[in-house]
Amino acid sequence: MSVGENLKKIKDSVEEITKSCGREPNSVKILPISKTVDAEVVKEAITYGLESAGENKPQELVKKYEVIGDQIKWHLVGQLQSNKVRQIIDKVDLIHSVDRISLCDELEKRAQRIGRIVEILIQVNITKEETKSGVYEEFAEELIEDISKNYNNIKVVGLMTMAPNTDDEQVIRDCFRGLKKLAEKIDSLSLENVEMRELSMGMSGDYKIAIEEGATIIRIGTAIFGPRKKSE
Ligand SMILES: *Cc1c(COP(=O)(O)O)cnc(C)c1O
Repeated sequence: MSVGENLKKIKDSVEEITKSCGREPNSVKILPISKTVDAEVVKEAITYGLESAGENKPQELVKKYEVIGDQIKWHLVGQLQSNKVRQIIDKVDLIHSVDRISLCDELEKRAQRIGRIVEILIQVNITKEETKSGVYEEFAEELIEDISKNYNNIKVVGLMTMAPNTDDEQVIRDCFRGLKKLAEKIDSLSLENVEMRELSMGMSGDYKIAIEEGATIIRIGTAIFGPRKKSE
């Protein structure tokens, strides 16, 4: 299958799933994840209607941005070190992976410097897997309150999580449900400069469950671009 066909297939699949769970098809955005995919392949995908792409490494995002630029919207979905913020701040539409206040310090400083408001999601480690980044649920509220109080150039627009790599559908569903619940709780606090507009959850293997549980952004890599060259 080609990337164009895969894109179409995912779109159709999202439409079907949203319909079957009573959601509007356009309430779920597909974010193709282009990590390890050649810039040329991404460029070709633009001709099939690709409008955005997510990368998990700042350096790789910068490299592809140099080739493709603003033809599509770029999202950073992977770990971000403070010393990499400067390279990506003027290139990204949304950062999905903010999980600590020290990173916010740097984001605020760099966003101020280029006169922009950066939109971010708070990554939450719902299942507390040691190998995963993300703030634990019980500390998320405090982190978001801190951001709301102390920064003007950072805007929290939702939450992101990664489900455990398991065949147990209930474990995955509980994880997504937990993120949604947390978003509702935070929303009820009506914090200044904080919106719970986006829930970034679900990947190639579990996006159906994520949509059923309220995802607004699904991050799809292999189901669009095929198996990755190297393991991530
Ligand atoms: C790689 C990656 C994805 C996409 O994973 P697939 O299983 O290939 O769809 C989604 N989110 C993050 C954060 C990733 O690093």
